[in-house]
Amino acid sequence: MRFSGKVISVTGGGSGLGEAIVKRLAGEGALVAVMDIDLAAAERVASEAGSARAYRADVTDAAGMVEAFGRVIADHGRLDGAVNNAGIGGPFIPTADYPLDWWDRTLAINLTGVFHSLRAELPLLAAGGGGAIVNMSSICGLIGQAGTAAYVAAKHAVIGLTKTVALEYGAQNIRCNAVCPTYVQTPLTLAELKDPAIWTELDARHATGHCASPEDVAAMTAFLLSSDARSVTGSAHLVDGGITAS
Ligand code: NAD
Repeated sequence: MRFSGKVISVTGGGSGLGEAIVKRLAGEGALVAVMDIDLAAAERVASEAGSARAYRADVTDAAGMVEAFGRVIADHGRLDGAVNNAGIGGPFIPTADYPLDWWDRTLAINLTGVFHSLRAELPLLAAGGGGAIVNMSSICGLIGQAGTAAYVAAKHAVIGLTKTVALEYGAQNIRCNAVCPTYVQTPLTLAELKDPAIWTELDARHATGHCASPEDVAAMTAFLLSSDARSVTGSAHLVDGGITAS
């Protein structure tokens, strides 16, 4: 019960990795604010998680994020931790042909969405005496991936943003880290990688022999939010089964 009495937000908490993170944090005693553009999905996860409440929040809307966090404070009085996880995937298309609208949409959600979330969260964490932030990057924040220019650019930038926030807010007792998962089966990846044979091939590329699970990513996220990680900030943490080790 590392998070008893702590209020922690999770954007994109209505599906996939966010859902597993919400359930892990609630299971360890947190009161979780499940924030998602899809309110019905957030409500389902909140009701299954137990110690959680759903909020509609679109990370592309700067003012809307401030307003959504205002509702969290009105309900719970404080914010102790934040997971900036909302994100989208997109098509696999080489850079010269990459559609401009997908570029704009991916950067708006996967990068600017993290920035908007941080702007809303940081003053609230500081007001409560500090806290911890986890930004969801990817192995694509550390290596390239053919066909996904926008996703790779956004995920690299999230790591830079993470380091900058760690430096800026350390003195206010706020830590900020990034998590970099390998391929995990979620609605995001299954939308593009539909053939089960692709997953068998992906499993074999990992030293562990398998892709990660949502629960694996939730475990790392919970560690980084917890006081066990009190000396960990400004860094990127792989949950990648060794796929980037060579
Ligand atoms: P998912 O599609 O299962 O869940 C994403 C959630 O984000 C959904 O509930 C969706 O409604 C929400 N969302 C989308 N746009 C939003 C917006 N504008 N505002 C608020 N919420 C919004 O995806 P996932 O696989 O769980 O991915 C979660 C995060 O993990 C993403 O940032 C993704 O890039 C990252 N990631 C995923 C994998 C993977 O293999 N699944 C690997 C590395 C990193």
